[in-house]
Amino acid sequence: MEEESFPMNGGEGAHSYSKNSHYQKLAHDLTKRMVQDTITRKLKTIFNPFCIADYGCSVGPNTFFAIQNVIEAVQHKCASQKELEFQVFFNDHTTNDFNTLIACLPSERQYYSAMAPGSFYGRVLPRASVHIAHSCLALQWLTQVPKTVCDSKSPAWNPGRIYYTKDRSPKAMADAYAEQFNKDMQSFISARAQEIVPGGLMVLTMPGICDRDSPSRYSIGFFEFLGTILMEMANEGTVEKGDVDAFNLALYAPSIEEMKEVIEKNGCFEVERIELTTNDFEVEATNIAGLIINFRAALEGYFRGHFGSEVTNKMFDKALEESDRVLSVLRNSPHELFVALKRK
Ligand code: SAH
Repeated sequence: MEEESFPMNGGEGAHSYSKNSHYQKLAHDLTKRMVQDTITRKLKTIFNPFCIADYGCSVGPNTFFAIQNVIEAVQHKCASQKELEFQVFFNDHTTNDFNTLIACLPSERQYYSAMAPGSFYGRVLPRASVHIAHSCLALQWLTQVPKTVCDSKSPAWNPGRIYYTKDRSPKAMADAYAEQFNKDMQSFISARAQEIVPGGLMVLTMPGICDRDSPSRYSIGFFEFLGTILMEMANEGTVEKGDVDAFNLALYAPSIEEMKEVIEKNGCFEVERIELTTNDFEVEATNIAGLIINFRAALEGYFRGHFGSEVTNKMFDKALEESDRVLSVLRNSPHELFVALKRK
């Protein structure tokens, strides 16, 4: 049985991920050069056909930019090899809107495409079939919220909030999330260790935090804002308080140390580069609605799965109506963790 999944909004409508993923695109822009640089310096063998997989690709267009970037870097490296052919595997949950992805494939593409549906926490491709594995802003999704966080008898219980909130959430909650991350990331790395050929590369971008930071840093204040809105709705009686208490986001941003630990424990990969970079975007009053719609395109399905459509619509409408409040709670730009690995 595949784990629960809440894909990004499909289609190409007003709230779709394909039309509302420009903030996610900023993360691609931030690490584009690092991906190129990794390929230029660390790719030693040019396989033909050359197989690239994007894990957690959603519906585009960001996955197409990412693939193009990888292909150009490989081509640049082997300009003499004219007959090189590329095979791209697009991976996401089976519930992802693959039809929209296929309909939007760039017409000028220089690659063959195939879908590889299924959770990336397990195997989705044959053994030793991938030469470069790529993933951007997908590994923050855990397989599940740690059970203890939703259990009122546990020290990790986090009532009245939907994510780790500084000074208000128990440390046991942060520990439970860290443990879940560790377990999930081990599954991801060991599945990729089987799929990637020896000498193949893996380039990952995901939200990260500094060692000294509180886990709440990742949310840049936005999840606290949505949590407050839900609690206001609970006070008005439009949502059950118990439902808010039992709800948390299955998201996590690790530190460099946590990531390294998992990779070292697995033992199949060499760390070529690992660093935190900052996505320095300014959120201003003029683009705050855009930011909220981006978050909506990414998170709506997850909220709908727990609260239903009515509550979810109301929550996002309220967030838009009160968007000036977001500006006052949003703090510091998000960090992105970039990891480049080579299969031993
Ligand atoms: N890489 C794209 C999409 C990011 S959205 C971009 O940069 O724009 C994150 C994607 O990861 C979603 O489409 C979600 O369905 C997918 N995802 C989350 N958990 C996953 C899992 N376990 N297996 C496969 N895909 C997953």
